[in-house]
Amino acid sequence: MIPGVRLVVLGKQGAGKGTQCVRLSHHYVVPHVSTGDMLRGEVKSKTPLGLRAQSLMDQGELIPDDMVMEMVGARLSERDTRGRGFVLDGCPRTTTQAERLEDIVHPFGVDLVVNLEVPTSLVMKRLASRRVCVDCGANYSTAAPPMVNWTCDVCGGEVVQREDDTEEAIQRRLDLYEKQTAPLIEWYDDRDKLVHINGTGSPDSVTRRVVGAIDAQRQARRPSVP
Ligand code: ADP
Repeated sequence: MIPGVRLVVLGKQGAGKGTQCVRLSHHYVVPHVSTGDMLRGEVKSKTPLGLRAQSLMDQGELIPDDMVMEMVGARLSERDTRGRGFVLDGCPRTTTQAERLEDIVHPFGVDLVVNLEVPTSLVMKRLASRRVCVDCGANYSTAAPPMVNWTCDVCGGEVVQREDDTEEAIQRRLDLYEKQTAPLIEWYDDRDKLVHINGTGSPDSVTRRVVGAIDAQRQARRPSVP
């Protein structure tokens, strides 16, 4: 049986985090925990959290740390994530969130933090052409649309451009990423958790690189047999 994993995936908007996280969650048979998807679900259901988050999300601003980490803490305390692990997508976004995450996953900790590296010029292009399913979050692009009339191939939902994929909001999110999220790379590097992965190329080749890095890390940490 393939062992589970406790994985955090970092990378700027459009680096392919969502796509890779879905694949990795299937590979390791652990839940894909995406804070963006969870927050969009809250907005759609008009919960108190969703009502507070909506305008911040539309403008490309971050949701306050307390609100996000309460939601993440609840999800990561459930039996499935506590037992086999998770692929965490979109969190942490600040060092405060990273510190809170350590408390949440105590005593197991996080196994590995993957930093998906893609040049900004490429992510700008990817985001401008990105289209997503409003129901299941599956990703498409203007170059690779669903088979039938912007109807999701996976669930039949409507495939649209995200409210925050306007040029202005994309720029704002990339600026925030540099300011608040990029320092996390150093934070995790200092804790010897970080691996850099080239995020360019086909989705298959990127998945192979990530799985290879996780396997290599497991091999390295396995106690040697005398
Ligand atoms: P992207 O990576 O393209 O910004 P996400 O789907 O990960 O897309 O997130 C969408 C929005 O949800 C963010 O712009 C932000 O407003 C909010 N969000 C998601 N995760 C977090 C987080 N960990 N902390 C604060 N805000 C978050």
